[in-house]
Amino acid sequence: MLKDLLDAKKCFKLVCGAGNEDAMEVERLVTIYSKAGCNFFDVCAKPEIVDAAKRGLANAGIAEDRYLCVSVGIDGDPHITKAVIDQEKCVKCGKCKLVCPHDAIIELDKYKVKKARCIGCGLCLKNCPKGAIYTESQLMDYDQMLPKLVDKGLDCIEFHAISDDEFDVDKKWEQIQEHFGGMLCISLDRSGLGDKKLLSRVERMLKGREPYSTIIQADGVAMSGNNDEYGTTLQAVATAQLFQNSKLPLYIMMSGGTNTKSTELAKLCGVRPHCLAVGSYARKIVKDYLIMDDILTNEVKMAEAVAIAKTLIDISLENMKDD
Ligand code: SF4
Ligand code: SF4
Repeated sequence: MLKDLLDAKKCFKLVCGAGNEDAMEVERLVTIYSKAGCNFFDVCAKPEIVDAAKRGLANAGIAEDRYLCVSVGIDGDPHITKAVIDQEKCVKCGKCKLVCPHDAIIELDKYKVKKARCIGCGLCLKNCPKGAIYTESQLMDYDQMLPKLVDKGLDCIEFHAISDDEFDVDKKWEQIQEHFGGMLCISLDRSGLGDKKLLSRVERMLKGREPYSTIIQADGVAMSGNNDEYGTTLQAVATAQLFQNSKLPLYIMMSGGTNTKSTELAKLCGVRPHCLAVGSYARKIVKDYLIMDDILTNEVKMAEAVAIAKTLIDISLENMKDD
């Protein structure tokens, strides 16, 4: 069970991207990472993407100890935003395409964002010299979508509770609990709320829930893990430390800027998470393999990709072991 993995601190979560609607990529990612030993998979809250992840698990051929989670967002959550290019302002300089870490910008007669691939990281916005890019939130109707997702047989639902609107947070949290009785995860970082408000929000959300039926995804800087440095992962460790010190009855999962240094740095700081979640960095290190047409049938290339993913997982889990 997922709970057993968390208790044993043997849980590694691959974040395929809450906004990643590219079914082919998700299937390939899940295949590679499941073969490499990853046991927890976080995908976009769309039934067809859950199906893609399930195909990935079937491809890998390992049925035991593999768990699926979907991430649902709220207004204000960057993970569910999509970039849009204002053609009136665009001067076709190509800078956005160069910086996009997810190859979501294509150049035809004009620059366009492929919505299914946009993960809302915001890098293109920061680098556009003409301010020609804006974002749109992709909000979903919880009561309509959650039953369809739950029917797929999920192991966890992750709620991105990044919003100033406490009323909206509470309402959506209630809706999630009405539709799903299993393990829930709350994803939050320190940037918007500050430590005090963050802890009191989580404390309030835990009311009425069984102890250790909830994971806190202690986020550092969301979607920032494009390199493998200690500095990138620092905030994730600090957020995890905050929750560890709070002694709230939660499983702690570090995320947001995580990489091969995350659990090592956590250990040095006396932080002992139950799970490590890696997104941007995990996707980046196998990026070349994800675009190979024959990756699912090419045993040599698949073995190479699996070996790369396995190094990340093994280093991470080794540092999570209790002394
Ligand atoms: S960076 Fe801005 S101006 Fe340049 S191609 Fe992209 S949208 Fe157009
Ligand atoms: S840079 Fe980020 S926000 Fe912009 S198109 Fe690419 S994935 Fe989307």
